[in-house]
Amino acid sequence: MIDQLNPEQQAAVTLPPQHALVLAGAGSGKTRVLTTRMAWLIQTSQASPFGLLAVTFTNKSAREMLTRLSALLPINTRGMWVGTFHGLCNRMLRAHHRDAGLLQTFQILDSADQLAAIKRLIKGAGIDDEKYPPRDVQRFINGAKEEGLRPGSVDAWDAHRRRLVEIYQMYQDQCEREGVVDFAELLLRAYELLQRNAPIREHYQRRFQHILVDEFQDTNTLQYQWLKLLAGEGASIFAVGDDDQSIYAFRGANVGNMAEFERDYAHGTVIRLEQNYRSYGHILDSANALIAHNTGRLGKNLWTEQGEGEPVRVVEQPSDLLEAHWLVDEIKAVIGEGSLRSEIAVLYRSNAQSRVIEHALFSSRIPYKVYGGLRFFERQEVKHALAYLRLMDNLHDDTSWLRVVNFPTRGIGARTLEQLSDLARQNNTSLYKAVPLMSGKGGGNLLKFTELIQQMAYEAQILSLPELVEHVIHHSGLRTFYQGEKEGADRLENLQELVNAATVFAAEENFDGLPAGRILMPDAPLAAEDPAQPPAADSAEDAATDADVFSPVVQMSPLGAFLSHASLEAGDNQAQAGQDAIQLMTVHAAKGLEFDTVFITGVEEGLFPHENSLIEAAGLEEERRLMYVAITRARQRLYLTLAQSRMLHGQTRYAMRSRFLDEIPEEHLKWLTPRERAPVVANSNWSAGAYRRGDAYGRPSTGGAVARPARSLTTGVSVGDKHFRIGQGVTHAKFGEGTIIGLSGAGVDAQAQIQFRDVGTKTLALGIAKLEIA
Ligand code: ATP
Ligand code: MG
Repeated sequence: MIDQLNPEQQAAVTLPPQHALVLAGAGSGKTRVLTTRMAWLIQTSQASPFGLLAVTFTNKSAREMLTRLSALLPINTRGMWVGTFHGLCNRMLRAHHRDAGLLQTFQILDSADQLAAIKRLIKGAGIDDEKYPPRDVQRFINGAKEEGLRPGSVDAWDAHRRRLVEIYQMYQDQCEREGVVDFAELLLRAYELLQRNAPIREHYQRRFQHILVDEFQDTNTLQYQWLKLLAGEGASIFAVGDDDQSIYAFRGANVGNMAEFERDYAHGTVIRLEQNYRSYGHILDSANALIAHNTGRLGKNLWTEQGEGEPVRVVEQPSDLLEAHWLVDEIKAVIGEGSLRSEIAVLYRSNAQSRVIEHALFSSRIPYKVYGGLRFFERQEVKHALAYLRLMDNLHDDTSWLRVVNFPTRGIGARTLEQLSDLARQNNTSLYKAVPLMSGKGGGNLLKFTELIQQMAYEAQILSLPELVEHVIHHSGLRTFYQGEKEGADRLENLQELVNAATVFAAEENFDGLPAGRILMPDAPLAAEDPAQPPAADSAEDAATDADVFSPVVQMSPLGAFLSHASLEAGDNQAQAGQDAIQLMTVHAAKGLEFDTVFITGVEEGLFPHENSLIEAAGLEEERRLMYVAITRARQRLYLTLAQSRMLHGQTRYAMRSRFLDEIPEEHLKWLTPRERAPVVANSNWSAGAYRRGDAYGRPSTGGAVARPARSLTTGVSVGDKHFRIGQGVTHAKFGEGTIIGLSGAGVDAQAQIQFRDVGTKTLALGIAKLEIA
């Protein structure tokens, strides 16, 4: 197992139990070293599989680590503590929910749920949402939590901040009442649990003699404190990271943790790895040259023995639609050369870019899978179904209550809900509990809703998880509702997919056939006072007797586990398992992964680097690290693609190529389209403001780019009394609705390339085809 590693890697793997930091660039084998060290510790009997705790950054990488581990050693990895910070904290809190002051059935709010909860609070308390925009409040609360601060300990130096702290407190009370926990709270609670509860802390400190952390550069202050507590005096922390890949500062990650860790723990034991085993020379050198533009780096040198390989290919297209079409053609060619689809990744800076790409792949029937991003579990209909399911688990979950109380419509209006919220607030109860206090017609409808939920929960007790999901989709009225909707077919499909997801989940977690679980019956006491709670898992001493007690299988009902999974693993479930598919994801989600072929799309100023980042130098450097991460995902072949115009958030935008392209030496690049700055599209949509380069992006405007006449390819074309242009919606008598994605020629020779909604792309002669402009 060790023979295959280079001497530095071997040294890291076989370090005696002590704290250590591996500081090394992309593709140098950090993750491999970390995984091998786990195997080595187990094999040399220095640790049992249950005496290790490993933190990774995504669920995908946690799964990969377990797979690699079982390839190295013949052990069963089930029940091992390998996961993300959120996943591990969730597990700990479920095991000790009472000590943590939580319901066993606590639900996790994802960030959209959290925002909804904050909006509701701000409205209910009559707070001015212009002075306190919900998003700012959310950022404030999460920021405080990530620093480990409860409302009582936040510094409030002026009236505005004092008010924010009050809102934070109100939000806390609301979450408490509803039995819900947001992402930042998972970490803070788990931290406080260890901090306050000596028996539990000592138990875990004894148990985990080895703590291993991947992607250490992206830990935040609280995560680092949690690790320190968990390690105590006895355990060794083995951290690996790369300061050049720190890309979560915007979410509170603190790259300073690396220096601090070195000071606190690692002292002399910092290991550097310099050989890159992932990428060919042109790719690696492009990454090295790019990142050299950043300041204040810890400094690393990466080289490869693999030879220079192919140059990085660059392609510029007139529009995002053409970029997507080119992409699909090129992907077909790469597959034609024998590549697996799963070895091809399409990366983008912003989630909004994925729709066009997805559509192009879909139209060409190329299977693809989106990670993160366009999240299956975040689609409206899926969220509605999940809200009903959450109510099966916890009737006091007001966020879910409000989401579906009048969906499908049940004649419960905003005024009724306001009254109900007021009553709940006055009596300090959940909405569910406040229903009997309501009178009038609204009250009657609310009562009917409550009865519906109670009835569903009652009937559901004997159902397995997939049956329960099916049951809820049916009896909630969601199915009937979407059947009646014009565009409902997709949504019905997604609901069916949710049943599939539950089936797969139940089978994988061995919940197959078990009743979906302990359902909180209408007037059951809250779990905190519930004598029926199994006591075993709540005590660290008992739990210590069997590692598996910590497994969520024992801890949670199948439904509870599934709901946590839905919150934590949003997006992982939308492609059929095992299918060979193109991998689509944001650059953030690609961290730590590698593929034979990588396409980085939208390499444009304003998009990558993102315009929001350009206000300060630190923002630009983070974008550059992000590009560095993107480039270093590729093993053999890398493409950078950009579009001159793109529809984003309902607006056509025009952009120049990204400055990052100019930071890569020409010798590594091969332009497949001419490198000259192609003129910007001029069409009738042209308006001041649509083209904002120069002013907003902080670089001088190359005025000519705006004024230069456009190429015929991208100008509008007039035929008869009609004027056609790219991006325009058109209708054809036979092919139906479509969008113009390309124009060429003039007069009788004018042709348009049109992407039709139903029949794919066609090229039509404008003089002949009778097109109506939509
Ligand atoms: P990142 O910073 O992107 O997370 P990393 O430093 O974690 O990268 P790994 O993913 O561990 O790098 O390794 C990159 C690739 O190199 C993997 O395919 C890994 O198996 C391979 N590799 C690592 N070390 C060696 C080695 N000594 N011999 C051959 N291949 C290696
Ligand atoms: Mg890695």
